[in-house]
Amino acid sequence: ASGSDENDVIVIGGGPGGYVAAIKAAQLGFKTTCIEKRGSLGGTCLNVGCIPSKALLHSSHMYHEAKHSFGSHGVKFSNVEIDLPAMMAQKDKAVSGLTKGIEGLLKKNKVTYVKGWGKFLSPSEISVDTIEGGNTIVKGKNIIVATGSDVKSLPGITIDEKKIVSSTGALALSEIPKRLVVVGAGYIGLEMGSVWCRLGSEVTVVEFASDIVPTMDSEVRKQFQRSLEKQKMKFKLKTKVVSVDSSGDSVKLTLEPAEGGEQFVLEADVVLVSAGRIPFTEGLQLEKIGVETDKGGRILVNERFATNVPGVYAIGDVIPGPMLAHKAEEDGVACVEYLAGKEGHVDYDLVPGVVYTHPEVAYVGKTEEQVKALGVSYRVGKFPFLANSRAKAIDDAEGIVKIIAEKESDKILGVHIMAPNAGELIHEAAIALSYGASSEDIARTCHAHPTMSEAVKEAAMATYDKPIHI
Ligand code: FAD
Repeated sequence: ASGSDENDVIVIGGGPGGYVAAIKAAQLGFKTTCIEKRGSLGGTCLNVGCIPSKALLHSSHMYHEAKHSFGSHGVKFSNVEIDLPAMMAQKDKAVSGLTKGIEGLLKKNKVTYVKGWGKFLSPSEISVDTIEGGNTIVKGKNIIVATGSDVKSLPGITIDEKKIVSSTGALALSEIPKRLVVVGAGYIGLEMGSVWCRLGSEVTVVEFASDIVPTMDSEVRKQFQRSLEKQKMKFKLKTKVVSVDSSGDSVKLTLEPAEGGEQFVLEADVVLVSAGRIPFTEGLQLEKIGVETDKGGRILVNERFATNVPGVYAIGDVIPGPMLAHKAEEDGVACVEYLAGKEGHVDYDLVPGVVYTHPEVAYVGKTEEQVKALGVSYRVGKFPFLANSRAKAIDDAEGIVKIIAEKESDKILGVHIMAPNAGELIHEAAIALSYGASSEDIARTCHAHPTMSEAVKEAAMATYDKPIHI
């Protein structure tokens, strides 16, 4: 531990916001300490979020393909089985390899790593109850709070991580549930629902709102929902969970229409509560130094990530904004760049969103509804993957590219992609938007053939002119 040596920067939390801020701070020449209570770095994202979910999404997709698609490609098996413990072990191996990698990066950049629970004694002093059981005081000129977020439950539902699980429990089930009810149709619920649906669970998604993934362009969302329904996922939208009874062998959910009406019961073996996440500041003693938060508990910061207390900053899931790992990382870099007297920059209008189901859905910029609401005149160009040669060649052609551009200038305002690899394809659009490109700029950029990216080019052509292949 760093003892009484004063740091330039202390980061509380070793998630994607915190560890990235710590590395960048050290790279900028700051004496830096990162405090993490979990015992491993990478935060929610690496330990119980982005990474383990993608590992299981990939493994379950392989099983599903082997079972349902390989045959049509002439690859025959006599028997396809799931070895769930092996699947979980591969996920755990991915997580532990990556968390150790981050520890190596901190070391390489000479960031002091203190394992323990940090709490404010003053705006420049953190007391850490270390994992080994001791206590140490870490002092610093600037303190960055990157304590992230935690699972949110719903009134009347107690998460036991066995029959009623959060995403953390859903990443580590020891058996494939026959019936899984997912409460909340955000991206986490749909991703975890997909995993278990592919492995054989009957999955029903219950959502209070009238739509799944509210941040998605509604035209793409409709196609996406249809696709999930084809995969046998069931949806009960505009439905409220009244109570959950897990006292018997199965779990009984009492539901009612969101607008009121007759109650009904849905039975499940496992219920996944994925109704959002809440900022995590427990035991941090923010109140002791008077850091202001909003009603939801998020730490309030200005455009330079400074809280109301001089020398105290906050980034990532614990402040307002999209609760995404890449956004937390951007915050972390910009925050320490400001501390170094540089001009940090995060464009919150251009944070891509990705749902890693199959097909994936990815988007950047504005939805058509948002553009309409702004009263801007616009054009839309679309191109279906059914007309994309690569997608047809590999028989994975469900999806669409949709580009929205300002009518007058042709400047791209938003791009929405549903495709097997939409999460990768979206970055061409992200760059285009960040450079203020027009749809014609994309359309006149030579794209390699045969690639899925050609669908982006064709959608761009369709925006300002006509596509070739449809
Ligand atoms: P966190 O990752 O939550 O890290 C905060 C860290 O601070 C934690 O490790 C915590 O232990 C530590 N900490 C808290 N308080 C203290 C304290 N007092 N002292 C010391 N340490 C402390 N985002 C994506 O972009 N893509 C995805 O695919 C994706 N998938 C997800 C899937 C799931 C199932 C979940 C739950 C989340 C997913 N997310 C995804 C969201 C992503 O995990 C978060 O947005 C991201 O982790 C936020 O980073 P952060 O650094 O702000 O906080």
